[in-house]
Amino acid sequence: MKENHSIVNSNNEDADIDELRKILGGKKCAGRNDGMKRIDAGRTITYMSEDNDPVIYVENGDTITVEMQDCFAGKIRKKNELLKALPWNSINPATGPVYVKGAEPGDILKISILDIQIGDRAVILCEATDFNRYHFQISEKSMFVDIINDEAVISDKIKIKVRPMIGVIGTAPETGSVLTTLPGIHGGNMDNTHITTGSTLYLPVFHEGALLSLGDMHALMGDGEPTGSGLEISGRAIIKVDVVKNEFMPLPLLETESFVETIASAKSLDEASVLAVENMLTYLNKNMGIDKGETWKLVAACGNVGICQFANAMKTARCCIPKTCL
Ligand code: CA
Ligand code: CA
Repeated sequence: MKENHSIVNSNNEDADIDELRKILGGKKCAGRNDGMKRIDAGRTITYMSEDNDPVIYVENGDTITVEMQDCFAGKIRKKNELLKALPWNSINPATGPVYVKGAEPGDILKISILDIQIGDRAVILCEATDFNRYHFQISEKSMFVDIINDEAVISDKIKIKVRPMIGVIGTAPETGSVLTTLPGIHGGNMDNTHITTGSTLYLPVFHEGALLSLGDMHALMGDGEPTGSGLEISGRAIIKVDVVKNEFMPLPLLETESFVETIASAKSLDEASVLAVENMLTYLNKNMGIDKGETWKLVAACGNVGICQFANAMKTARCCIPKTCL
């Protein structure tokens, strides 16, 4: 018998969701009233699994709005709120899953991120009390950063333009259930700052409908998620989903106007980096038709390896090639 790990909150009257709506209510949202399919931020899972029931069925090629809670499920509201009050077993709620009609095992799901809008206040996990042992000496205090006029207010003097991104985005994994706190071949908690407006992400389809879920938005995050959390925030994304058939690509793979990159996750950053490079070599050779020798030279010349995150139990790295090199 299959075990169902999904935690689906479908109570639309939930106070957290009302608050999110209030926050987002005044925000510009392309297509808000144009009949675009929309998924409520209350429809969440904390495991990605083929056993999760879809919360919406969409057509291949549809554009949809996905509302998302922050990674703390909206539970941290007040300064100094104790972290032990957090629902740690339901951290990183991801909205979904979305069933994309026509997606079959072996296909690729192409996700175009058209727009991201965020709330007015971000939460940061804990406040360090000892900078030399920051991962071990954290206090119980949560911190907040207000977002005013698309700027994160770090202090009176330091204001940084937001660059909203999606930390968790994935399809149902090939086997079993994977927590939304973990990354993998299916995507998941990759925390890649390049998963942002204008980029296109390709993920594997292991099960009918693909079962895409997303959450864990950040108003801003340093590469690596260096202090354990980004500027965690609720919001919504407008995405277009397309099913790609009869094509091979090393996945997950991301493309923007200016670069293409492979993303890989493993127990260590070393392993994740090697995997990302191997995937890039494969991509250039098989998908771009560049011969093996030239591929090796190309990656030696301009394959930029970077850290997506080292904050999770599995680490994520990327290998990025500027399109000007291709
Ligand atoms: Ca994350
Ligand atoms: Ca996060």
